[in-house]
Amino acid sequence: MSTAVGHTPMMQQYFSIKAEHPKTLLFYRMGDFYELFYEDAERAAKLLDITLTQRGKSAGEPIPMAGVPVHSADQYLAKLVKQGESVAVCEQIGDPAVSKGPVERKVVRIVTPGTLTDEGLLDARQDNLLVAVYLFDDRCALASLELSSGRFEARELSHQNELNTELARLGPAEVLVAESQAAHLDGVTSASVQLLQDWRFDSGRAAEQLSAHFGTQDLSAYGGDDAPHAVAAAGAVLQYVSDTQGSALPHVCDLKIERDDNYLNIDATTRRNLEIDINLRGERTHTLFELMDRCSNPMGTRTLRRWLHAPLRDIEQVRARQTAVTTIVDTGPERFQSPLKNIGDLERILARVALMSARPADLARMRSGLESLPMLLQELKDCENNSYLKSVSERLGPFPNVVELLQSALAEEPAANIRDGGVIRTGYDAELDEFRELSQGHDEFLLSLEQRERTRTGINNLKVSYNRVHGFYIEVSKVQSASVPRDYVRRQTLKNAERYITTELKSFEEKVLSAKDRALAREKYLYQELLSALHPELPSLQNCARGVAQLDVVTNFAERALSLQFSAPDLTQRSGINITAGRHPVVESLQKSGFVANDLSLAPERSTMLIVTGPNMGGKSTYMRQTALIVLLAFSGSWVPAQSATIGPIDRVFTRIGAADDLAGGRSTFMVEMNEMAYILRHASSQSLVLVDEIGRGTSTFDGLALAWACALDLAQRVKALTLFSTHYFEITVLAERLPQVSNVHLDAVEHGNDVVFLYQVKPGPASQSYGVQVARLAGIPPNVINTARKKLNELEANYRQAQNNDPQQQLDLDTETQRYSADTQDLTKQLLLELDPDELTPKAALDLVFKLRAALENT
Ligand code: ADP
Repeated sequence: MSTAVGHTPMMQQYFSIKAEHPKTLLFYRMGDFYELFYEDAERAAKLLDITLTQRGKSAGEPIPMAGVPVHSADQYLAKLVKQGESVAVCEQIGDPAVSKGPVERKVVRIVTPGTLTDEGLLDARQDNLLVAVYLFDDRCALASLELSSGRFEARELSHQNELNTELARLGPAEVLVAESQAAHLDGVTSASVQLLQDWRFDSGRAAEQLSAHFGTQDLSAYGGDDAPHAVAAAGAVLQYVSDTQGSALPHVCDLKIERDDNYLNIDATTRRNLEIDINLRGERTHTLFELMDRCSNPMGTRTLRRWLHAPLRDIEQVRARQTAVTTIVDTGPERFQSPLKNIGDLERILARVALMSARPADLARMRSGLESLPMLLQELKDCENNSYLKSVSERLGPFPNVVELLQSALAEEPAANIRDGGVIRTGYDAELDEFRELSQGHDEFLLSLEQRERTRTGINNLKVSYNRVHGFYIEVSKVQSASVPRDYVRRQTLKNAERYITTELKSFEEKVLSAKDRALAREKYLYQELLSALHPELPSLQNCARGVAQLDVVTNFAERALSLQFSAPDLTQRSGINITAGRHPVVESLQKSGFVANDLSLAPERSTMLIVTGPNMGGKSTYMRQTALIVLLAFSGSWVPAQSATIGPIDRVFTRIGAADDLAGGRSTFMVEMNEMAYILRHASSQSLVLVDEIGRGTSTFDGLALAWACALDLAQRVKALTLFSTHYFEITVLAERLPQVSNVHLDAVEHGNDVVFLYQVKPGPASQSYGVQVARLAGIPPNVINTARKKLNELEANYRQAQNNDPQQQLDLDTETQRYSADTQDLTKQLLLELDPDELTPKAALDLVFKLRAALENT
């Protein structure tokens, strides 16, 4: 960009403001437009599909320019932030009438993707999060703030590779990272990334800044002493938001520092595979969230999404939610639904109140929302023996003072904008009423003046009137204009009439207009005062809003439980999963011909691994996924789609499902498959639920079989995770005969003539055949090709049997395989011992090692 030399004074002003915001687009206010210049104009023209024009010349060169009208700026801002852009909004703050040179201008706020609070820019059904990421040692800290609600959280993760998982859970709109660490975010998030200077993540500075913001001595009450890096990330977030909002943030009044193991860990791949809120085709339909969301209130909808993405590990907390659901199932969810709906999006309105950007309609909605609280409280009275619902009801106010204030201050139906007036109720402020009377009560005066002037001039059709452009006037037809008195001063000439003003009318006009201005100014002042008066109530109102959201979600769970015939799961401390007549809720909802429910049992004392076989399309994936969804729903506090379910502790859910080429990432199907499997083998524990659907397909049969075999063995013997392992390699079913912790189940199908009929029933034992040819027929492969395939299949099967008879060695020798696995483990033990230096070993490390060795040997 050119330097300021030789430019017009206005462009000089523009350059000096732009210099402070080099990376963001600058909306420079000029009258009724926001204008963009130079590169900004070129970029915005492309992104917004608006015309790129030129504005005169500055320093001898034409200035590229693009602009958007102020009154529709919101829609353009929305479009820009959706594309990851940030916009600095620069307003005229000086008075053009008295300015010498360009009017004084100032950037009043910066709109960034992660700091939105305007209703028009937000999706009511989704959180809009700003996240800061900070890496240290081989770990990672994250802080997240939802400015539109004030929810502020931070945590330190035990491994850097959890970053992906955590970002997938949070789904931020914008991520802040230190410049020197930016590379770590490559390919990890699709959010807009902002680089901050490294010092922004200084932990000491952050602690000081956060304490100052919360008005506390230090951060010990928030748990900040134990998590300095989480504090550093939180500090970076707070600073960034203060900088961009240009206003205080009184609604950000708490920081929750969370423990790393609060949530059931679900990695990004698994979230996708389970289609929690986005299906595998990247759409929002046919997902668990879509099926489960019948919330009455947008706050509930957003909370539900959060809950489904973050099932809790603390059984007591889950049980608390679950008992509330049960209570509401018993008392009927309908009673809460309509008051919940009436309360509206209180949380986001409160954020705008805090930022002083709430519109009159916001306050009107808040008023009617708060007016619904007593009704909700009344309904909750019957549920007070449930401690969860009791604690919700204790948070619901009902704030009579706030309601009274809003009722008395705010007009019944306030105008959309405070600048138009008509927002404050008559009777609230004597001064305002007086100005209004002066500005409005002119009808009587005008009538009497008209009467007087008619008498004085003898002109009977003389009219006294008013319009917005010309103010007050006396109108006389052209013909009679010759006989007007001398004190009439001509104001305007029309085709058939003349308009005049008199000294009396002029002074009346001044009085009226100034009263109008003063009424508007007074109203503006009173409105600001009203917003400020609400500030001390923010913490308890926010608490109320969150209570409403929670009540909405448990009510929603109750409604879903009744409509979808769910049952309350039994959560226990004993490891394992036991499901009777479980269903896949989403597949069931789409299945017109009825869904076949199935049982499942995984437990350390019986089997921890089920090998699932059966024909393609037989229902294997559905069976596996439904297990994960039941677990996920159970730990979110919901009832589950099963006749009954008993579920022990689960720390993580892993899936390796489907084979999608990651062509954009340059990884083949096989590579993706192996990456995912490697991740599972490295991270799963005996409390994990692992779903492996068809591993080893992307390579040669022997390679594939060998790898599938080895992975199954490792999961069953070393990891001991609760595993569902589906495979088309029939050879793997033999594992069940050799390892007590492995069992076979299969999905059944029957042949009917040349066709295959799927029964979708899970039965013990391996499948008897794969029905590949029959399924291919169903898929529409022409009959002649099917016939050829049938013949070839018979031939291959005959050859295979013959070969086995001739050479028993060709059979997969399981005993040798299993022994080899044990030998590998012993090798590992040896290697562990040889690699360490006993002189360097601390007592703690030595003890750890003994445990490790023993565990390894136990596995053999
Ligand atoms: P596989 O993994 O064995 O190829 P899927 O689990 O993908 O098979 O199931 C294929 C289709 O069969 C599903 O899309 C669904 O329409 C139907 N299906 C699966 N399980 C059931 C069931 N238990 N009851 C009814 N229909 C089912």
